[in-house]
Amino acid sequence: MDFETKAIHTGLNYAENTGAVIPPIYATSTFATGNLEGFDYTRSGNPNFRNLEATLAALEKAKSATVFSSGVAAITAVASTLKSGDLVLAEENIYGCTYRLFHAVFKKFGVDIAYYDFTERLNFARILEKKPALVWIESPTNPLLKIIDIAAVAEYCKKAGSTLVIDNTFASQYFQKPLDLGADLSLSSTTKYINGHSDALGGSVVTDSEEWDHKMKFAQKALGLQPAPFDAWLISRGVKTLAVRMQRHADNALKIAEFLENRPEVKFVRYPFLDSYPQSALAKKQMTGGSGIITVDLNFSKEQTLQFGRNLKLFTLAESLGGVESLCSHPATMTHASIPQHEREKVGITDGLFRLSVGIEHVDDLIADLTNAFSAIR
Ligand SMILES: *Cc1c(COP(=O)(O)O)cnc(C)c1O
Repeated sequence: MDFETKAIHTGLNYAENTGAVIPPIYATSTFATGNLEGFDYTRSGNPNFRNLEATLAALEKAKSATVFSSGVAAITAVASTLKSGDLVLAEENIYGCTYRLFHAVFKKFGVDIAYYDFTERLNFARILEKKPALVWIESPTNPLLKIIDIAAVAEYCKKAGSTLVIDNTFASQYFQKPLDLGADLSLSSTTKYINGHSDALGGSVVTDSEEWDHKMKFAQKALGLQPAPFDAWLISRGVKTLAVRMQRHADNALKIAEFLENRPEVKFVRYPFLDSYPQSALAKKQMTGGSGIITVDLNFSKEQTLQFGRNLKLFTLAESLGGVESLCSHPATMTHASIPQHEREKVGITDGLFRLSVGIEHVDDLIADLTNAFSAIR
């Protein structure tokens, strides 16, 4: 079966006796001992988790998947396998909450973390030199949409004996398959594209390694990182339409990126599948579509950039991304507000930087909304 078919026809277990086309929500904390499926207590397993896990594993042609209550819970699960003295090498532009988790929590337990710019190939040698326990990569990164050569990093990780984790949230497994590129763990915030409807939080770790599967199932129950059955059910519903949604997200985003490129208010447009994007060749090598996120550098002050965001009617100024509705964000005052200005600007997060999560509305309406918001600034 192909991706679209598996998204719809896998993960439908535990409903055979009733003929229900969609398995119900198993809103139960516990299960009678001796039941045929071997369930005992929802923290250590629930039919809704197992169904979603079956679907997510199938979509990446992987041996297993484990679901969690959020993307951050999935990151916690992976980080919890580390011990004092272990080193993590991370891309310097990783998600802010991943950074915070390592710094504010796992550092206290003796886990060390170092950051490098992994678009710089010379830095791959650090993996062989330092032999970290984990290498933590996002591609595309947030919010700068840097593309990291996953297959090349994976080769260095294999030589160093390091586990490679790819946070695949921005691309989704429809456009990028980290395990095929050599990663050990494919991690997602299922809150974003996989659910796609901005009505539940979730996270997942997909792997071909039996050892990592055991570690993740252990973390799910032992750390209390399990999702709610209802949220797992919503995400199972959302993922059925992932393929068609991602196609529309990408089509709309490419058209909007091309529109933005020709606006006088725009300094430059970051979109991995835009021909003018410096890393478009690498993006097209490892992704099958550009996904739905665009980051623009506007010729605006901080106040004008925020006003532009407020002028938009169809793009809601809000955290998060990947839903059917368009959202926008101003990293300097929202996701990256806690980073001092000079440090932000050093990594490219300027006051005029603006991120769009392009939804699946009609693209002409979205372009009209952007046009009106620009006009209201001058
Ligand atoms: C949102 C996000 C997360 C965290 O996921 P939550 O579901 O919000 O906990 C992790 N990584 C990336 C890249 C994200 O965008």
